[in-house]
Amino acid sequence: MDMPKAPNSPYVLHYTSYDSKTNGAGEKCTLEVDAVIGADGANSRVAKSINAGDYEYAIAFQERIRISDDKMKYYENLAEMYVGDDVSPDFYGWVFPKCDHVAVGTGTVTHKADIKKFQLATRLRADSKITGGKIIRVEAHPIPEHPRPRRLQDRVALVGDAAGYVTKCSGEGIYFAAKSGRMCAEAIVEGSENGKRMVDESDLRKYLEKWDKTYWPTYKCLIYCRSILQVESSKEAFVEMCADEYVQR
Ligand SMILES: Cc1cc2nc3c(=O)[nH]c(=O)nc-3n(C[C@H](O)[C@H](O)[C@H](O)COP(=O)(O)OP(=O)(O)OC[C@H]3O[C@@H](n4cnc5c(N)ncnc54)[C@H](O)[C@@H]3O)c2cc1C
Repeated sequence: MDMPKAPNSPYVLHYTSYDSKTNGAGEKCTLEVDAVIGADGANSRVAKSINAGDYEYAIAFQERIRISDDKMKYYENLAEMYVGDDVSPDFYGWVFPKCDHVAVGTGTVTHKADIKKFQLATRLRADSKITGGKIIRVEAHPIPEHPRPRRLQDRVALVGDAAGYVTKCSGEGIYFAAKSGRMCAEAIVEGSENGKRMVDESDLRKYLEKWDKTYWPTYKCLIYCRSILQVESSKEAFVEMCADEYVQR
């Protein structure tokens, strides 16, 4: 990404265009744009381009396991979270249903080298509910733990994992990625008066202000929950709290 050479001149993006029919090495292309939304995930190149700074991250490990239709019925309206030092000292293990298979995984910030040990423990916890299943995919990826120090520069803004919007404790990031992408796009549409004027940093800042106002209380609450989850003796209290209907809502 080449930065603008003058205040209102465009960003130039360099990319490779692939044609799925010819399967070749692709064609080098450029694209000139007025604004850039960095929605390129935890290892964001756009974030690097604007020196957005780093964040603390968790590592998540997940196995997609195809289980029998009978076993799948158990997970029809249910997702499982396991807490305890065996599955993760500071996060949780999970079994999440994914349409025709389950995702079994765990994460940690503090003990990344032990992730495979925690994964084994998570599988043992789910035990009979997944035995006989076939592992169809293994995934490992960083999960941001905190927004980046910088999420905006001139006409470049970051959203989703690129910005660092996964919530602590729950590890939820899909909703916040989609929501922040939409909010940022809306700020650009509004600031540009539907494409009639050039946006500037103050237009994109409206997205950040709206975002922080709407979601910062949620993040604060989950940062607190996370501190409970990190202490073995208070994990049961956390589980009890999650059983509360109000908390679930
Ligand atoms: C194992 C695991 C399990 C998870 N489970 C959940 C869950 O159950 N619920 C939940 O809410 N969240 C979950 N998360 C978090 C969630 O996946 C992310 O928060 C979410 O996907 C972030 O969306 P995103 O669009 O910001 O980034 P991504 O989903 O990472 O998408 C970024 C996209 O940009 C593309 N890209 C990157 N660089 C370039 C480039 N240079 N050029 C072109 N394209 C590029 C990538 O290929 C990718 O398609 C999980 C994460 C992990 C690792």
